[in-house]
Amino acid sequence: MHRNRWFIIGPCAAALALVIGLRLAMGQASVTAAAAGKNDPAAAVAAVKPNDGKLRIIAFGAHPDDCEIRVGGVAARWAAQGHHVKFVALTNGDIGHWSQAGGPLAQRRLKEVQNAAAALGIQVQVLDIHDGELMVDLETRKTIVRLIRDWKADLVLSHRPNDYHPDHRNTGLLVRDAAFMCIVPYFCPDTPYLNENPVFMYYYDRFTKPYPFTPDVVVSIDAVMDRKLAALAGMESQFLEGGCCPKVKAMPTDREAGLEKVRAGFSARFKQTADEYRDALTQWYGRDKGTDVKYAEAFEVSEYGAKPDPKELRRLFPFFD
Ligand SMILES: [Zn+2]
Repeated sequence: MHRNRWFIIGPCAAALALVIGLRLAMGQASVTAAAAGKNDPAAAVAAVKPNDGKLRIIAFGAHPDDCEIRVGGVAARWAAQGHHVKFVALTNGDIGHWSQAGGPLAQRRLKEVQNAAAALGIQVQVLDIHDGELMVDLETRKTIVRLIRDWKADLVLSHRPNDYHPDHRNTGLLVRDAAFMCIVPYFCPDTPYLNENPVFMYYYDRFTKPYPFTPDVVVSIDAVMDRKLAALAGMESQFLEGGCCPKVKAMPTDREAGLEKVRAGFSARFKQTADEYRDALTQWYGRDKGTDVKYAEAFEVSEYGAKPDPKELRRLFPFFD
């Protein structure tokens, strides 16, 4: 009787010991692998850029309309040459209307930027962060680093960190803080790092403290102005209906007249950019062509990314003869 019991218990104990032993061995193995990975430079993988001879540009905006306003024209020009352009809105725009809000508005604005992207020939992504609540935190910085790395960007664009709107300002800070981290292998080691820091540049703005915007490149958007205006006019929640502006109390009664007013307003805005930076336009295009440019977009180099010389800027902005 006792002998039989031991015959039964014996194999069970052996099996249990085997399982415990295997688990211990596996645990040790995974700990060893983690330790090795942490100290082995080969464990972090560098990104490999597609060898298609095309530029890769990623532009960040705080809301689903900022990139379209600030770089929509040049984006269309890059896309027309086959270069790869992506817009990313860091918030979903869900408070960006005086009479609508929440999920339905976020969905509406997503559709608007998707339509604009199709018109411009680019890609677009909207992050699901509430409008007005963008914070400069570690997780969002990591998200931006991963997006820049995944796009294998040559050029990164964003707001400057000085701006009236906290989401714009925080977008500028987040992208600035991502600049160096793109090339650090063990920051976000789950995403292949970039071997070379991209060039980081800012959009034009009119803020002057602590220092005013200084353009390093000014580009004519005359050839694509109709497409840019069509893309912007199609974002009706913002420009036809007034966006979040509390002064707007009613929808326009004459839709066509309202859209024409939107197009006229943006035409004046980008004509003003060309007029303000006429000297830079003549430097980039020569006197005759520079004088003739009617509409323009302007960009300033950030000192935290790669430092492009004029030749590199001409490679990144291949629009000058
Ligand atoms: Zn905005």
